[in-house]
Amino acid sequence: MKYEFRKFYKFFSQWVKSLPLLFLLACHQNPPNQSGNYRVRIPLDDGTGHYSEQTVEIPNVKNLAAMATDTVVVRNEGTPSVEADSNGNLTSADPSFGNTPNAHFLKVGDIYYPSDYETLAMSTLLYHFSSIKTFFDRFGANEGLAFPRMVMNDVAEFKVNDQVVPMSNNARYVPFFDVFWINPYSEDNVSLAFNGGVLAHEYTHSIFQVESKKYEKLKLDLKTTLEDEWQKYKARSSQECKTAFPSDDDKEVKLSLSEMKKANNLISGALNEAIADYYGFEYSKNPSFIMASFSNATDRDLSKEKKFLFSYNQQKSWIKNSLSKDSCGIDTHAVGAYFAAFLYLASCPHDDVKLPGEIHCPKDALGSEGTQRQTLKFISRYLKQLDENFTTEFVSLGEAVKLFFKGLGKKGSESELCRQTANLFPGELKISDFCPEEKKKK
Ligand SMILES: [Zn+2]
Repeated sequence: MKYEFRKFYKFFSQWVKSLPLLFLLACHQNPPNQSGNYRVRIPLDDGTGHYSEQTVEIPNVKNLAAMATDTVVVRNEGTPSVEADSNGNLTSADPSFGNTPNAHFLKVGDIYYPSDYETLAMSTLLYHFSSIKTFFDRFGANEGLAFPRMVMNDVAEFKVNDQVVPMSNNARYVPFFDVFWINPYSEDNVSLAFNGGVLAHEYTHSIFQVESKKYEKLKLDLKTTLEDEWQKYKARSSQECKTAFPSDDDKEVKLSLSEMKKANNLISGALNEAIADYYGFEYSKNPSFIMASFSNATDRDLSKEKKFLFSYNQQKSWIKNSLSKDSCGIDTHAVGAYFAAFLYLASCPHDDVKLPGEIHCPKDALGSEGTQRQTLKFISRYLKQLDENFTTEFVSLGEAVKLFFKGLGKKGSESELCRQTANLFPGELKISDFCPEEKKKK
């Protein structure tokens, strides 16, 4: 098994110690290959990054031993392979969805205890993906997705033109195959298969993808994570790269057609990450869910106060500078973190309940349900605008904020949400840009 146990080893070894007792109590009359709802024991985040063992119900299971419900199927291992042309465009693929699991449980009463680590990881994946699907049903956001959703556990590599690309410490949605890959985890924290926030993040990417597929141009222009991964892998063997910076001044920046495409692609990727982080928070209720698995990723803690200082032109120059050959490029997660912080701010409850973290909740924020609904509307509004102007107009982070506010009916500086949003993007936004003051009647 490729998993490093570490934190979960402790959890799992406690479990193993209690197994002899469970053996005495266990009953094996019902092999878990019959359809129905199953009660299973798995580790869950309580919303603060503290994981403890809990009993959950997995609904509409078709075959628990094979890890299949009517909405989710978990497979194990497998090496997907793709063919790519000389420009890095993917041409054909063999998804190699891996093996149908043969999961092992001990049954005590009506509760199923995973009896090996692999089963524990797969059961947790099955539970979370099934719950995340239900979570998005409230908003009708599953429309257009194919079911059952396919989740591959413990994918350690994929092949490009027969060249092996190893992967670790990541979970990803792969649009090319429409599957989720959970890579082996070797950091000293919570393995990604157990991090519900991370899994909801990946699921959100597939919702964004379905929406972008409605637009012909975007279908061709938005990069897939698989291509990204391959480019990064190739870059790793090349020389050291330089960090890109924007220009100091706010001078007009001209972008060529291909630069404009890349600039819009980058912001679109950043918004995709931001929205995925935001729903990861809403699902897990933990704004620092990423840090449960990657303690260094403090910039992605949604509850940390942030300020995005770059102007519209500076964003253009930053991306333009990042396109030079020796540049490290720009991390879409890091840029997206500012928009995610904005969504977190908007999701503040209306009453005096404070969300965790450094931010002060605006009294007129939209609340959790309101922000989730508005964010889904925003995705389609944004992608429509991007499709219309992909090669002619740069849609910056601030432009995205303006689109979010469209139709919200917020007015002027008396709105706390407007004021705090402008404070978050001081380089680009004035309140009057997105929360216009009502015209005074003469
Ligand atoms: Zn992501």
